[in-house]
Amino acid sequence: MLALGAEARTLPIPGLAEQALGFKQVEEALALRNRVLSNIEEAASTWDHDRRRRLLTFVFVGGGFAGVEAIAELEDMARAAVAKIPSVEQSDVHFVLVEGTRRILPELTEELSGYGLQQLRERDIDVRLSTFLTSCVDGHVVLSDGTEFDADTIVWTAGVKAAPVLADSDLPIEGRGRVTALPTLQVARDGAVVDGAWAAGDCAAVPDLTSQDPTATCAPTAQHAVRQAKVLADNLAATLAAGPDAPVELTSYRHENLGTVASLGIGKGVAHILGHNLRGLPAWTAHRGYHVYAMPTLNRKVRIMMDWLAAAVFLRDLASFGSVAAPGAAFAAAAEHDARLAQQRANGSGSARQSV
Ligand SMILES: Cc1cc2nc3c(=O)[nH]c(=O)nc-3n(C[C@H](O)[C@H](O)[C@H](O)COP(=O)(O)OP(=O)(O)OC[C@H]3O[C@@H](n4cnc5c(N)ncnc54)[C@H](O)[C@@H]3O)c2cc1C
Repeated sequence: MLALGAEARTLPIPGLAEQALGFKQVEEALALRNRVLSNIEEAASTWDHDRRRRLLTFVFVGGGFAGVEAIAELEDMARAAVAKIPSVEQSDVHFVLVEGTRRILPELTEELSGYGLQQLRERDIDVRLSTFLTSCVDGHVVLSDGTEFDADTIVWTAGVKAAPVLADSDLPIEGRGRVTALPTLQVARDGAVVDGAWAAGDCAAVPDLTSQDPTATCAPTAQHAVRQAKVLADNLAATLAAGPDAPVELTSYRHENLGTVASLGIGKGVAHILGHNLRGLPAWTAHRGYHVYAMPTLNRKVRIMMDWLAAAVFLRDLASFGSVAAPGAAFAAAAEHDARLAQQRANGSGSARQSV
């Protein structure tokens, strides 16, 4: 059963691998939240103008859902954090969104995408359309429109690709690197079932039976992945229960998309649901409502809602845990310090304490 998901799809841009963060894994999202808060705290304690500007410049590359939701949410959080720090001005903080095509949120209608763009620009987020990141060596960002500046945080949100390990297998792979599957979630080569192989989620090219286009496949979303998983499990259990070579009736995966929602920070959003356009608070409420509905297990739903309730009463949690990214660093520094002292004592230096 193949459910390997996808990973960031990058380009050979100088400096990208060394400088950028991805935004695919939960740990990347946590690291990014902590990075933004830590950078604001560090900027508050330095008078070096260039250093401050670099710390407070956050660049996102890719204006799809991931990039737009990430920049909007983090900008909202950064504004709330800066409001509590007198030595940092709101105007010191720079958020830049770089998008290669002529619009953001391509999954939405032109009208809603335009609304999203306007919302971001009204918040002083510098959105560059039809622009590419060309280099970011040592954090020096160069854009295709000729702009150059330094940024401590560069986030790559410009697409995903199916797990590359699939390409090293002898499984049937389509043009976008996904395993080809039937609507029953069985892996198939040229329409013929590959015995004993099943696939679902982002790594699988599953026909979209709701589309007029017979070649259309399901988009890489959690909405499809979790629903496909259930159909796959039922079909696999039925196949195993029937025994080898016995006829078995399998269910075909089919899911009509109800709509698309995007959050643009607390109380802000944009959505297209059942043919209706929503903006602002109604869209944001629909976004939160849908996500808590879709979240598996009651335990997780309740924990998330309690967290939102706490934030509604006490506002955002702005505590930064920047050192979480390197949990061994403090211990390693302490051990290195002790080793140095021991070495000085062994060398007969009686003034080890003073020399520290
Ligand atoms: C920022 C962001 C926001 C998103 N927001 C939404 C949203 O609002 N709504 C929505 O529907 N979708 C959203 N998505 C898409 C959604 O996250 C994916 O479609 C979904 O997670 C796919 O599920 P999956 O099980 O196929 O893959 P994954 O969730 O990626 O799980 C794959 C698992 O396989 C593991 N794995 C990979 N390779 C191997 C290997 N070789 N051996 C063993 N294990 C391996 C991985 O570690 C991972 O745990 C978003 C994605 C991103 C990045």
